[in-house]
Amino acid sequence: MRIVIKIGTSTLAHKTGRINIRRVEELCKVMSDLKNAGHEIILVSSGAIGMGVGKLSLSGKPTDIPTKQAAAAVGQCELMYVYDKLFSEYNHTVAQILITGADIEQTERRTNFENTILRLLELGVIPVLNENDSIATEEIVIGDNDTLGAIVAATLKADLLIILSDIDGLFTADPHSDKNAELLHTVKEITGEIEEMVGDAVGELGTGGMYTKINAAKIATKSGTDMVIANGKEPKILYDIVDGKEVGTRFLGKR
Ligand code: GLU
Repeated sequence: MRIVIKIGTSTLAHKTGRINIRRVEELCKVMSDLKNAGHEIILVSSGAIGMGVGKLSLSGKPTDIPTKQAAAAVGQCELMYVYDKLFSEYNHTVAQILITGADIEQTERRTNFENTILRLLELGVIPVLNENDSIATEEIVIGDNDTLGAIVAATLKADLLIILSDIDGLFTADPHSDKNAELLHTVKEITGEIEEMVGDAVGELGTGGMYTKINAAKIATKSGTDMVIANGKEPKILYDIVDGKEVGTRFLGKR
C-alpha cells in the first residue's frame, strides 16, 4: 500500500514545544517496520513551529509572522535531524520536501513535486513533507498539514491517509464536555450531520482542529483514498490501522 501519514505537533512534541523523544522514537520504529513490510510511506510532519518555540525558549506559539517564520526555520532543522537520525537506525533514508500553496496550485510545480516524490519512492526513500512555513505568507499559505496531507495523498493516489493527532477520532459530540459522546468507527459519507458534529477547537501548538480534518477527509475520499483519524499517543496503532482493524475513525474513499 502507498500510505501517507500525517503527524500533528501535539503528537510529536510536549506542551513545552520540546520533542517527545519516546513517542517519536516509537513512531519512527513502527513506520520503518511498515516500510520493511513492503508499504510505501510518505510522512507529512508538523512540528516545525512548535519545536522552534521549544528550541528558542519562546513563551508560547508566536502570533506575529516574522517570529513564526523564524521559529519554523529553526524547528524544521531539528525535525529533520531527528527523523534522519531515527530512521537511519533502521537503515532508512529520509528526504525533505517543503512546499507552499503556490506549488500545489500551479500545475507545473505540482507535477514537479509529484515527480520528485515518485522518484524518491522508487529509490526507497521516505519523503518527509511540511509546508514551507519560513517563506509562506498569507497569499500562498496552505495553512494546515491536514489539508496538505490530503492533497498529497490525492495527488499520489495513495491507498490510505492516516492522520495522527491527540484525539481518538470523530465523536458524535465533544467528548470533553459530553460524556455520552460516541466514537464513530466508519464514515461512509460526509453528510451535513457529520459536519455539524465538528467543533473548531485547535491545540496549543498545532494549527488544525477537527474542522481541517473533515476537510482533509473530503479531499482524500473524493479521490478514492481511505482516511483514518486516530490518536498518535500509542504509535503501534499504525499497525492496526494498516491491517484495517476498527481503530479511530475511518472515512471510506469513493470507489
Ligand atoms: N507547518 C506547521 C509546522 O510545521 C504545522 C501546520 C499544522 O499543524 O497543521 O509547525
